[in-house]
Amino acid sequence: MKIALIAHDKKKNEIIELAKKYKDVLEGNELYATGTTGTLIMGETGLSIHRMKSGPLGGDQQIGAMLAMGELDLIIFLRDPLTAQPHEPDVSALLRLGDVQKIPLATNMGSATIMLEALKNKTFLV
Ligand code: PGA
Repeated sequence: MKIALIAHDKKKNEIIELAKKYKDVLEGNELYATGTTGTLIMGETGLSIHRMKSGPLGGDQQIGAMLAMGELDLIIFLRDPLTAQPHEPDVSALLRLGDVQKIPLATNMGSATIMLEALKNKTFLV
């Protein structure tokens, strides 16, 4: 399964926490991430991740392009709803494409945890 991981700056700690907790579940998959998120998760967990550009420099668009091509199965995008992002149009575009492609896309810890538990329990399969 191809999984994308993205977190805005104030959510980086949360995505690292998730990646550590679900390392066993994630490592059986092909992982993608925006630049800084990917670097941090790799450093903290040792997981192997294909890194895109940093989000504000086009990384969200790169993940969006993969979505448009039907190349992703699941996305965890911990976004910060309380801070203005310079690349807000890219964020909105990515979320829209997720809905266009009907790809499971979690935007907070609650929904991300449900998705990862489903993967762990093998109740979510593609
Ligand atoms: P980053 O990008 O992982 O490079 O910080 C995430 C984002 O802000 O979209």
